[in-house]
Amino acid sequence: MKIITKHFINGAFVASHGADVVEVRNPTNNALIGRVTMGDAVDAERAIAAAKAAFPAWSQTTLDERKAWLQKLADAVTERLDDLTALCIAEFGGLAGFSGYAMTQARDFFVLAQETLKPENFQQRVNAAEVARVPLGVAGLLTPWNGNPWFVCGKAASALAAGCTVVIKPSELSALEAQVLMEAFHKAGLPAGVINVVNGLGDPVGNTITRSLDVQKISFTGSTRVGKLINRDATETMKRVTLELGGKSPTVIMPDADVEGAVGFALTVGLINTGSACIAGTRILVPERRGEEFKAALKAAMEALKSGDPADPATTVQPMITAGHWDRVQGYIKKGLDGGADLVTGGLGKPKGLEAGNFVKPTLFANVRNDMAIAQEEIFGPVLAMITYRDEDDAVAIANDVEYGLHAYVYGADRERARAIANRLQAGRVMINELVDDPKAPFGGFKLSGFGREFGVAGMQAFTEPRAVFG
Ligand code: NAD
Repeated sequence: MKIITKHFINGAFVASHGADVVEVRNPTNNALIGRVTMGDAVDAERAIAAAKAAFPAWSQTTLDERKAWLQKLADAVTERLDDLTALCIAEFGGLAGFSGYAMTQARDFFVLAQETLKPENFQQRVNAAEVARVPLGVAGLLTPWNGNPWFVCGKAASALAAGCTVVIKPSELSALEAQVLMEAFHKAGLPAGVINVVNGLGDPVGNTITRSLDVQKISFTGSTRVGKLINRDATETMKRVTLELGGKSPTVIMPDADVEGAVGFALTVGLINTGSACIAGTRILVPERRGEEFKAALKAAMEALKSGDPADPATTVQPMITAGHWDRVQGYIKKGLDGGADLVTGGLGKPKGLEAGNFVKPTLFANVRNDMAIAQEEIFGPVLAMITYRDEDDAVAIANDVEYGLHAYVYGADRERARAIANRLQAGRVMINELVDDPKAPFGGFKLSGFGREFGVAGMQAFTEPRAVFG
């Protein structure tokens, strides 16, 4: 069992001022695997002060110097990839394949951010003005629990490339993964105060960061509920905010789709992280006249999934991160049943033999109306809603009739038709026929999925503001 009592502040591991202890349990069997001391406002303020003191020198580093530091971070994280992968499985319950992939991607952010360090991304002439992109200052980076190192590294790489110093508050449910990252950051040896990490709860550590006058930018990934609080707080201190929030993404299966390919695609995107993914395509829109065909094929495919130990490469369904989250997902299954949707497979309770963990039966509802809670609200578990549509206009209307707008998916034989539908969907990213992970293309949402874009040049520039110098 891991005991974590320190934060990474000003280049060193320092004892927590806050004293509350949070237990970390392995979601596969609920065994206790860690005890983590949560920071408090004093710890957060120490980290902010360190980042503020480090900013003047860091912001003046050359692009080549920052490239070299980013490479040192990439190298240090590379050395810890096995540890990160093992903890992504043990702490989050991530499937083995996903965990290895996501941790490698996390490391890659430090490599890719180097490509943004080109003079033209920082300097531009506009008439008589020399326009420079200036780093904003101290950036607060707040992350969720579903694959936490991926978010920490993605945000830190862009912020550091831009010339900002950072205070990171990882999810309290990901402290073991965060500890490995802190050790890697320490090993990379950046100047003291450039990277700081404080373990803690949203209140008081998160909101001390989001309310501080000494923090000029917040990059937040998490729930829409907390995103709204952060946006409200940001008004007081005129902070720039990037908010990557929840999702309820549609998968539009076109009338000409082959059933096998469409069902495979729908389950791949619907059950990313067993549904604990902001981008999961949990609303499956199928043509009305083929409703029975798709229902039967989805049922068969879902019943072939294998719940179990996420470390086993044969496992395809992981547990929910906590017992509390399991309860929440059960609540939605109950809402689906009470609301009159047809339960096709799955349902309440745990799969046989897996009672010790937080496993949810992969659940499919059909005859779902788009105004039902299971069609509108983010469940964050393996609960999919099949909704039928009459024609393409109806499909687009249903797909867009939701408060979120993060991702959308389209599957069909005729790519041109599929693309025409994709162009009408309100989503930050739309994927046609394949699940693509491109860390250079912009990522972010519309509507209650938040605003701002991460990754690539746009993601780096979100940590800057232009300054025009004349004369
Ligand atoms: P959450 O909003 O509960 O927590 C996210 C982070 O915010 C945590 O570090 C938490 O401690 C912190 N926090 C909580 N209250 C705070 C406050 N008052 N002030 C400042 N910080 C506070 O989200 P979660 O449960 O950790 O993650 C799941 C959610 O994240 C889902 O809604 C999911 O869709 C969303 N998410 C979005 C994306 C995206 O890229 N759009 C990616 C992954 C997850």
